[in-house]
Amino acid sequence: MNGTIVIIGGGQAGAQAIDTLRREGYEQRLVLIGAETELPYQRPPLSKKFLSGELATERLWFRHRAFYDEHRAELVLGKAATRLDPAAQTVQLEDHDEWRYDRLLLCLGAGSRRLSCAGCDLPGVHYLRDLGEASALRTEIRPGARVVVVGGGYIGLETAATCAKLGCSVTVLEMADRIMNRVVAPAVSSFFAAEHAKHGIEIVLGARVAALVGKDRVEAVVCADGTEYGADFVVVGVGAVATTELARAAGLACDNGIVVDEFCRTSDPWIYAAGDCTNQPSPRYGRRMRLESVDNAFEQAKTAAQNMLGGSVVHDRVPWFWSDQFDNKLLIVGLSQGADRLVVRGDPAGRSFSVCHFLGRELLALEAINHSKDYMAARKLIAERVKLDPDRVQDPSIPLKDAT
Ligand SMILES: Cc1cc2nc3c(=O)[nH]c(=O)nc-3n(C[C@H](O)[C@H](O)[C@H](O)COP(=O)(O)OP(=O)(O)OC[C@H]3O[C@@H](n4cnc5c(N)ncnc54)[C@H](O)[C@@H]3O)c2cc1C
Repeated sequence: MNGTIVIIGGGQAGAQAIDTLRREGYEQRLVLIGAETELPYQRPPLSKKFLSGELATERLWFRHRAFYDEHRAELVLGKAATRLDPAAQTVQLEDHDEWRYDRLLLCLGAGSRRLSCAGCDLPGVHYLRDLGEASALRTEIRPGARVVVVGGGYIGLETAATCAKLGCSVTVLEMADRIMNRVVAPAVSSFFAAEHAKHGIEIVLGARVAALVGKDRVEAVVCADGTEYGADFVVVGVGAVATTELARAAGLACDNGIVVDEFCRTSDPWIYAAGDCTNQPSPRYGRRMRLESVDNAFEQAKTAAQNMLGGSVVHDRVPWFWSDQFDNKLLIVGLSQGADRLVVRGDPAGRSFSVCHFLGRELLALEAINHSKDYMAARKLIAERVKLDPDRVQDPSIPLKDAT
């Protein structure tokens, strides 16, 4: 391919695309435009080891500056792209600089879903999406501080665990009837609820936040039933919304994300997209999906990069996710929608078990708690659609791969 490739968004997908483009032999001009001033960095530690102070900022970087120099990738950091003109094939930045592209890759990620209740903008209310927000949150964490976490999903619970480890008194308010209810089986929710309780975290289910109150900064969270939870600071983790404004304003098709085909191509033939910002059809699952995970951003970026250079690679992977809470590792592979049977393999009391989601004899998804062996086996079994015997799977003494 001749000409300039411009990537917008210096996160997981953007950084990976640079690597793949050069590996695949692309020799021409390569520019990465990123709104953040930091070198492209990993987000998962922001709620884990970066927040706890165990990891320095430089350890978050995917690559050092030298990598970008060696790969002749021009980094334009600290400048958001504000306008995209697909007809002229140009991108305008906030300082009015303009870049012309021959191929464009949008890796815009997602933004935190915001609360809209009274008091939601009070100082002391935190979100956790980027390094700046994580650094601001870090300054609030101290032994004895009362923190209310709104949202019992991955990010809320990881943040709760980190704050508790550092001596805060933590309350998690979750609207649903169990934590992580959209992403794990009830047995896994119960296991993690018990782990959080063991570390002194109060989890309140069915809690609907009505207002945040305080004079100069947040002092309490008030729920719809009138219950008030005193807080020195609040962390909100109620989901993310795909970043689509730039694409939408340019006339690209958007619908819960930037609409791409299985080749990661948007509705404009010269523009591709990858990562949290995309909504892509999955041949395997027969429907469109918007996933938020490192694996998805990494794989889509590779696919998009190959296709931008003339390939015709279909992105059709079995997704996987992870979460770390205290010393527990949760690994999930596959998607459980459509399952008609749940099998718990092993005893949750032993703190190492798996939950298997079956449709007939097909394993659709597996959630492994401190059990990387089952997780690794399941990746292969799910990808290859191996038929298993759910009754034998129930017996943890039989290796998963042999439970046919
Ligand atoms: C706290 C936290 C913990 C997480 N933990 C896990 C985990 O344990 N496991 C897991 O699989 N995933 C985890 N994730 C999710 C994972 O980090 C994301 O799925 C992944 O980073 C997505 O990569 P991306 O490149 O699509 O977007 P991002 O990495 O979010 O990067 C998008 C970049 O685009 C930039 N940008 C947006 N608009 C513009 C613009 N107009 N101009 C220029 N730049 C722009 C943004 O500033 C950002 O730097 C976590 C996320 C967070 C926030």
